[in-house]
Amino acid sequence: MSNFHQPVDAAEVPRFAGHATFMRLPAVPTPEGLDIALVGIPWDGGTTNRAGTRHGPREIRNQSSLMRRVHHVTRVSPFEIANIADVGDVSVNPIDVLDALKRIEAGIAAIVAAGAVPLAAGGDHLTSLPSLRAVAKARPVGLIHFDAHSDTNDTYFGGNPYTHGTPFRRAIEEGLVDPQRFVQIGIRGSIYDGDEHAWAAAQGVRIIYMEEFVRRGPADVMAEVRRIVGDAPAYVTFDIDSIDPSMAPGTGTPEIGGFTTREAQEMLRLLAGIDIVGADVVEVSPPFDLAGMTALAGATVMFELMCVIAANIAARRAR
Ligand code: MN
Ligand code: MN
Repeated sequence: MSNFHQPVDAAEVPRFAGHATFMRLPAVPTPEGLDIALVGIPWDGGTTNRAGTRHGPREIRNQSSLMRRVHHVTRVSPFEIANIADVGDVSVNPIDVLDALKRIEAGIAAIVAAGAVPLAAGGDHLTSLPSLRAVAKARPVGLIHFDAHSDTNDTYFGGNPYTHGTPFRRAIEEGLVDPQRFVQIGIRGSIYDGDEHAWAAAQGVRIIYMEEFVRRGPADVMAEVRRIVGDAPAYVTFDIDSIDPSMAPGTGTPEIGGFTTREAQEMLRLLAGIDIVGADVVEVSPPFDLAGMTALAGATVMFELMCVIAANIAARRAR
């Protein structure tokens, strides 16, 4: 344990000093030897409305300097029980979508090959597709998807299959995600023609609209999520626009009527014990943010996910 990477102590070097890395952990050149690799995907080439998520990882790193060592509810101390570091950003191509998808997949695949769990900061939501291609190479995974949007549209702009509104349709078509173990939480807002939701539901995807979430509350909803996903490997994807724009305005496609940050935290803690083989936080767009509040929400979601994943790894090691 003493060999595990540790964050810089804020009592020695203040939080605002030095180079920003995720959680103030060391930046390491490779994922070898890590349990969890924190990685940035600075890309917004799949964005259909206002852009800027290419700047997400850098600002999430900055705001993550506020994260401390111990989770105040679960008392998980992730850096004591798992080896975690910042592996930098994956290679991207800001002017070529197909090449970017290949580069992102290769970057995440290197983490998977090293035996580490990738925990990524996007990037727009299309970045989840190449991440799933890397994580689900051997078998389809379950998917727990927090979002205002279903992201299961077919095509945009004259038949283009790759935008941040289409990743999970592609992921099902490519056999990366088992639609029977796929649940979406927080879906709301106006839709194009109803096809995306109808298509997803026809595949077996469980769509929990925001209105149902409000009626039932986090504990009941997450109990159902656990039943749907079961014990097999699952990926968690958190679109920051699932949170209400009053608390997370810095995003490309805001929808009113969203989760509070507190509801989001409560749900994330209830992921404990689920076999999470990869996760991401996407759609943080710093140019539209106010006072860093959306990037702070993104960094905190990352911390919550990191604590759950680290506790899982430690429990597996102890068995
Ligand atoms: Mn999304
Ligand atoms: Mn969304």
